[in-house]
Amino acid sequence: MGARFPPKHKFFKPQKIIVVSQGDFWSLYLSKFCRCAPCSAKSLTLLVLVMPAILLKAKPVTDALDSSLVEKIKQFQKKKKRVPTLATVLVGEDPASQIYVGSKGKKCLELGLGHQDYKLSAKTSEKELLSLLKKLNGDKKIDGILVQKPLPKNISEWAVLDNLSFSKDVDGFTSTNFGLLAQNRDCLVPCTPAGIMALLKFYKIDVAGKKALVIGRSDIVGKPIGLLLLHANATVTYAHSRTTSMSDEVANADIIVSAIGKSAFLNSKFSFKKNAVIIDVGINRDSAGKVCGDADTESLISKVAAITPVPGGIGPMTIAMLMQNTVKAAYLREEMDYE
Ligand code: NAP
Repeated sequence: MGARFPPKHKFFKPQKIIVVSQGDFWSLYLSKFCRCAPCSAKSLTLLVLVMPAILLKAKPVTDALDSSLVEKIKQFQKKKKRVPTLATVLVGEDPASQIYVGSKGKKCLELGLGHQDYKLSAKTSEKELLSLLKKLNGDKKIDGILVQKPLPKNISEWAVLDNLSFSKDVDGFTSTNFGLLAQNRDCLVPCTPAGIMALLKFYKIDVAGKKALVIGRSDIVGKPIGLLLLHANATVTYAHSRTTSMSDEVANADIIVSAIGKSAFLNSKFSFKKNAVIIDVGINRDSAGKVCGDADTESLISKVAAITPVPGGIGPMTIAMLMQNTVKAAYLREEMDYE
């Protein structure tokens, strides 16, 4: 695509023409006339094509991961005469937690994994929960244990983690798995950060040598994704609620992982590198009650190179990695080669 300027109208200024292909992710717009200043003759219409960000959807990634996992489950079943099994433990009746646990159970069924569902009353004591964990730790047919958070205030999350067998810690939250991760050794990696790395790999986004900004420093997302990016040779910066240079950090980053839980936090008021990739981990509700992430995707779509949608991005990746961790835990416990 291009524009021709009749030689006699020498005042036409060449315009920058950007040519793009059309596809799922592309849309283009803005056509305008160019005029010769002295005689007002029109040149050919110039098309300025805007190239919006690629939407890094989870679906093709989880489809690929799930189909190879199903093979691994079949191999395990053939050899061990049982299926890898996940136990989920829910204390209380938090509606969001009920939905999360329900979708994890559904995914187990879909892939052919075993699922044991423990629903305890909100009045459960810490001692009762720890005694259930002791039983599940010792149960040879359980490969993974997930205790859904948040827990009632009378139960210490540290006590739960310290009493969970690290070989069944499919969330990757115990201090043993966290320490192994920090040392870049094989372990059960927390599901959301593992899902982010799998998504980047699928879409061939190389992080080596890139500047990665991680916004949020929780133990379950921020800290571990920073470590994984560091191990993949990115130059990592952490930002959090006390960061005073957020605009500069965002403007300098090639990859931005936002995990803070604030809708539209990343918006067009920030400057971004043209090639920036945004990984939106946040799960929030907007003013209309619709699920959304930390990024105002609509206003950023023409400002960055790629962005994960919410919903349909890191959420499904997290569940997919939980399934992977359950099968990996089963293989490791049975001393089978996982890779
Ligand atoms: P969290 O424990 O809720 O902590 C939030 C983090 O964000 C903290 O480090 C906090 O900084 C930082 N923060 C808060 N407001 C900020 C601001 N205005 N500017 C900069 N930093 C700010 O974190 P989380 O558990 O990782 O959850 C974060 C979000 O991810 C939530 O929306 C959660 O629902 C979502 N999430 C999604 C998935 C998924 O599967 N997609 C999984 C897990 C979590 P300080 O440390 O200074 O307080």
